Amino acid sequence: MGSASRKTFLPLEPMSFKNESKEVIDFISDYYKNIEEFPVQSRVEPGYLSAKLPDSAPYCPESLQDILKDVNDCILPGLTHWQSPNFFGYFQANASTAGFLGEMLCSGFNVVGFNWISSPAATELESIVLDWMGKLLNLPSSFLFSGTGGGVLHGSTCEAAVCTLAAARDKALKKLNGWENITKLVVYASDQTHFTFQKAAKLVGIPPSNFRLIETNSSTGFSMSPTQVALTIENDIKSGLVPLFLVATIGTTPTGAVDPIAELGKVAKKYDIWFHIDAAYAGSACICPELRPYLDGVELANSISMNPHKWFLTNMDCCCLWIKEPKFLVESLSSDPEILRNNASGSKSVIDYKDWQIALSRRFRALKLWVVIRRHGLANLIYHIRSDISMAKRFEEFVAKDERFEIVVPRKFALVCFRIKPKEEVEGNELNRKLLEAINSSGKAFMTHAVVGGIYVIRCAIGTTLTEQRHVDDLWKLIQEKTQSLLMEKI
Ligand SMILES: *Cc1c(COP(=O)(O)O)cnc(C)c1O
Repeated sequence: MGSASRKTFLPLEPMSFKNESKEVIDFISDYYKNIEEFPVQSRVEPGYLSAKLPDSAPYCPESLQDILKDVNDCILPGLTHWQSPNFFGYFQANASTAGFLGEMLCSGFNVVGFNWISSPAATELESIVLDWMGKLLNLPSSFLFSGTGGGVLHGSTCEAAVCTLAAARDKALKKLNGWENITKLVVYASDQTHFTFQKAAKLVGIPPSNFRLIETNSSTGFSMSPTQVALTIENDIKSGLVPLFLVATIGTTPTGAVDPIAELGKVAKKYDIWFHIDAAYAGSACICPELRPYLDGVELANSISMNPHKWFLTNMDCCCLWIKEPKFLVESLSSDPEILRNNASGSKSVIDYKDWQIALSRRFRALKLWVVIRRHGLANLIYHIRSDISMAKRFEEFVAKDERFEIVVPRKFALVCFRIKPKEEVEGNELNRKLLEAINSSGKAFMTHAVVGGIYVIRCAIGTTLTEQRHVDDLWKLIQEKTQSLLMEKI
């Protein structure tokens, strides 16, 4: 046994912390240097890793060198390289040096700011950064702490959706006098709304049969029709149901469509239902004055969320949620256990963010967003968005000029939805599925797909931090090559 005053095993010894951290940073910076050499989509087969790693944990400590060697040999092949400049799938997950540094500081301090007293800076910086971010988006002061609202950082939009739905549910049930009325509550979304809202509604106890998916079509660019929403609401009221929640999207996941916020907001007001705006992807773009009009009508919403971890140079994870009346969130999610009681919370003069989220423990994410905003400045953040959009425009023009292809949905942001125009519609989906498969299995680039209005579209989401024009040009060459061979094969 060692003496009581001096431990011989020090997991956080300052010198080894410094040296080993440097080794990991060197490893990551080499990874970024070589990132274009890897096939973008991982080529491993399911279960590949258990064949490479021991089936139980080591008893004795291992060296960092050994561990990094395994990261290199066993983990890297199993990565799909989201930070590759040739990654055009899903929606990008932006990384940046500033985002990484912010993560390091967050992880380095490793404080747990569940209430104000547990780390005042964590709470106060979060409120300040949410106001900064809200002002960058020109949100009305009714969403800001400097006005009458407020915001919180969550890990994901899914979490923000669960919490806002819970707040809306409890607000409504209070009026209805009783939990048994939960079976009457109805949620409205479109068939393009992210599936996370269905999951969230189910999690807060809304019967899945009370989730309305308003149908969209290509004639309106897959955006939600306010008239259709109003009709559906009227029908539900006639059947004795209670409209609860309407979610509109700015930049839908399948095609980047935008729902008409101002008109939907009026419908929501008329029926007194909670109106949420999901701007997970395209919210970041609204810092550009020319794109801000997509947010017009936001003053009619009860809450809005967006993910800086998608397109705002902020490493995973980071979701901003603003609420006009935070008291509803707090009423729904607060807890007051004896072990956490303290004078600051007791006097109600501070924010306890544990009451704005699901978990108790929370990371100091604000540090990351703060570093990102300060290191880049609004000027470079706008530049980042605009250059992605201009690359997407260029790609869209390539596609539009080639008569073998068509743009399926007009582009609004940096997502281009296109396909090979089929001679006969029946074969179109299979043809485009094959094209995407050929591109992804080449390892040279990676895209994903969506099916809208029964049509299989290839989604080219431009916006990975390292993507430059030459990568987009190479992608277009690759698409042409693979299309050529596919069409030849058929003849
Ligand atoms: C990505 C995305 C989501 C889901 O975001 P998470 O943070 O992963 O939960 C929700 N809505 C839209 C429009 C998205 O693009």
